[in-house]
Amino acid sequence: MASVAIRAERMRIIRSFMERDSLTGLFNHTKAKKELDISVSRSERSSGELCFAMVDIDKFKSVNDTYGHPVGDRVIIALSRLLQQRLRKTDIIGRYGGEEFAVVLPDTDAASAFRVLNDIREIFSGIRYQVDNGDFAATFSCGIASIKDYRGSAEIGNAADRALYEAKNSGRNRVIIAGNKE
Ligand code: GH3
Ligand code: MG
Ligand code: MG
Repeated sequence: MASVAIRAERMRIIRSFMERDSLTGLFNHTKAKKELDISVSRSERSSGELCFAMVDIDKFKSVNDTYGHPVGDRVIIALSRLLQQRLRKTDIIGRYGGEEFAVVLPDTDAASAFRVLNDIREIFSGIRYQVDNGDFAATFSCGIASIKDYRGSAEIGNAADRALYEAKNSGRNRVIIAGNKE
């Protein structure tokens, strides 16, 4: 009994090392991508709703350059906590790259996904980070794609990426829905 429990615990730890990002505890890129594939297939089979969101912190290089890498890490951790607090238990949150996050929102249409990510954007932009001589705030940009407008996880991922790029180019600190002409 005890040896089975120990082996199970060891497996759990190994899996967590393979699937989780060490700074934030969120799913890493590989795991998040795999979860996106599974979720998209499931939603397509059931003709359900699903949105995929890409989030990228704005001008993050200058945060590091101005305040140092450890302060930059605090900003990344703050955003990861906020995402975990504000999103649903069933949503999948991954750290896609350095200051880039991916969120899969099952059973969520584009308007609802926009609302929740825009709320998170507003809260995030209001967080002040204390540094030696004062404080500062950070913002992010976000692109969202809905399964109703794109087919397959690669297409939906590319669409979210393009919407994120558009959010960056149109001034940053905003959420844009892919294919939305407003
Ligand atoms: P943009 O608004 O266009 O996204 O500009 P940006 O400066 O955020 O984009 P860029 O891709 O040029 O810079 C991202 C920076 O993120 C560069 C890299 O040093 C930093 N970074 C990546 N991973 C980490 C990390 O784990 N911790 C910290 N502190 N910084 C990181
Ligand atoms: Mg960035
Ligand atoms: Mg980036």
